Amino acid sequence: MLFKAPLEFVRFTNYDDADRLLNDLSGRPHAFVLACVMDRQIKAERAWLIPFRFMEKLGSFSMDTLLKQSESDVQRLMAEPEPLHRFVDDMAKFFFKAVERIAQQYNSDASLIWTGKLSSATVIYRFLEFDGVGPKIASMAANILVRQFKIKFSDYFSIDISADVHVRRVFGRLNLTPRDASVDQLIFRARGLHPEFPGLMDSPAWEIGRNWCRPKNRECDGCYMNDLCPSAI
Ligand code: SF4
Repeated sequence: MLFKAPLEFVRFTNYDDADRLLNDLSGRPHAFVLACVMDRQIKAERAWLIPFRFMEKLGSFSMDTLLKQSESDVQRLMAEPEPLHRFVDDMAKFFFKAVERIAQQYNSDASLIWTGKLSSATVIYRFLEFDGVGPKIASMAANILVRQFKIKFSDYFSIDISADVHVRRVFGRLNLTPRDASVDQLIFRARGLHPEFPGLMDSPAWEIGRNWCRPKNRECDGCYMNDLCPSAI
């Protein structure tokens, strides 16, 4: 079912050109990886724009072009004329190191991180090897690769949900977890409910939270969980 659905253009930012770069998994897969590395402590839309901003400044986003940049070049590109990230110095270092890792470990082809029907744990582990990437982003990266880009792994056990604000609210209202549940509680609840692929649960929960189950003025009449939901009004 998941893999039968057609491959669709994935929206990461509000910019077509930036999203085209991030969707170019066969030509410039490092853009997706570098965006994941940038995705911390700022809004995701802003973080995922950073590869495109580099491309605008450099005129190219090829690995050859990126490898020609020194660490201080990357620092300058990240900082000027306006900072691309809240933590310019750290993120410049992580960006530089990530390019280096892709060149050295993956022969400049970032798609080798996930190619070959690998286990979900292997792919997540490889993302965790990038400086600055923690379990949440590593799992999110694997989840996007499978769900949106239809990359097949040998299993999906290790891909967890991203317990964002919508997911937390919907899990709480559906009585799947207490309303003040911790991120770990949400993650383990999803593992218990759908151990084969826990991360599959965050997309419908997010959609319900965004469309109907809003913090205020929820629209239970239109929500497809209405018949089952103990909080329906
Ligand atoms: S039925 Fe209402 S309370 Fe329950 S998940 Fe849907 S919108 Fe939220």
